[in-house]
Amino acid sequence: MKVTDHINQAKNTLYSFEILPPLKGQNIQSIYDAIDPLMEFNPPFIDVTYHREEYVYKKLSNGLHKRQSIRKRPGTVAICAAIMNKYQVDAIPHIICGGFSQDDTENALIDLQFLGVENVLALRGDKVKTESSFTPEPDGHQYTTDLITQIAKMNQGVYLDEALQNVAKSNFCIGVAGYPEKHFEAPNMKTDLKYLKQKVDAGADYIVTQMFFDNKKYFEFVDQCREIGITVPIVPGLKPITAKSQITNLPRNFHIDLPTELVEAVEAANSKDAVKQVGIEWGIQQTKELTKAGVPCIHFYTMSRHSSTYKILKGVL
Ligand code: FAD
Repeated sequence: MKVTDHINQAKNTLYSFEILPPLKGQNIQSIYDAIDPLMEFNPPFIDVTYHREEYVYKKLSNGLHKRQSIRKRPGTVAICAAIMNKYQVDAIPHIICGGFSQDDTENALIDLQFLGVENVLALRGDKVKTESSFTPEPDGHQYTTDLITQIAKMNQGVYLDEALQNVAKSNFCIGVAGYPEKHFEAPNMKTDLKYLKQKVDAGADYIVTQMFFDNKKYFEFVDQCREIGITVPIVPGLKPITAKSQITNLPRNFHIDLPTELVEAVEAANSKDAVKQVGIEWGIQQTKELTKAGVPCIHFYTMSRHSSTYKILKGVL
């Protein structure tokens, strides 16, 4: 079922989860172990992130270096199929522009369509470590809007080879990312919102936000979106704090602010368990307020670790 149908049919706030494919060489059981306890909360859908290849330089016996591509977390499409099969829940693959030509994207979408996947989260992806800025494949997409346009065209039965006849229309519900604290490359919030509206106008059906730790940021973001005519559901994304290092890592990696009160509580915690407890209590307070405000769905970035998310939801329900 489409995310938008789940949302339209829901009487109360829904709770969804995001997991990472296991590292190459690990078993899919690690995914099941992360999902099993969370099924108690009847997630309408589970997202599976996509991680593009990275490059390493291997030294050869002649002293030269060979560039070698590695994928640390392959298997997104197969994991989606496994999740749908095991739990009868919708799985949402993240589809990114980076590393994909338009043909690669079309082929991936065809595979997903054959599998019965009805939702995708369309993203640009970040630059790879060796680049100074995001660089698309020669025939790839520069911005998510272009990727959405390709998916929306397939939904209308227009494939890259326009000469194809008697084609099957795909039927993807398309989600996109939104940034309550602005995407780090955008010169200002107004410009970022303009491009978010462009994504919706191109065919995005719903928005999932970047993580935030102050609900006020989410509420203000929703107001700003509504003011410029974005009417699609905006699903807030929450991430439980689980380690002291996150008070510097999260702002650095995700370009978000952490409230002083949260930082002070994490700093004062004197054990790993105490830090996790701070994250759980903060998550409970955020979830309760968002649920009370009637948000359509709360999306938890579990990072394939269920424990804190489980305790947050137990503390709320
Ligand atoms: P875009 O919407 O393309 O925007 C990128 C930047 O370009 C923004 O600054 C925007 O303002 C600007 N922009 C947009 N359109 C235009 C235009 N036409 N002209 C000029 N500027 C423009 N990354 C992964 O690699 N794998 C994942 O699985 C993944 N999952 C994610 C899930 C969520 C919910 C979120 C919030 C992020 C996720 N990311 C993931 C990270 C994401 O790929 C990065 O944040 C990336 O830097 C931007 O992606 P985007 O889709 O928002 O890009």
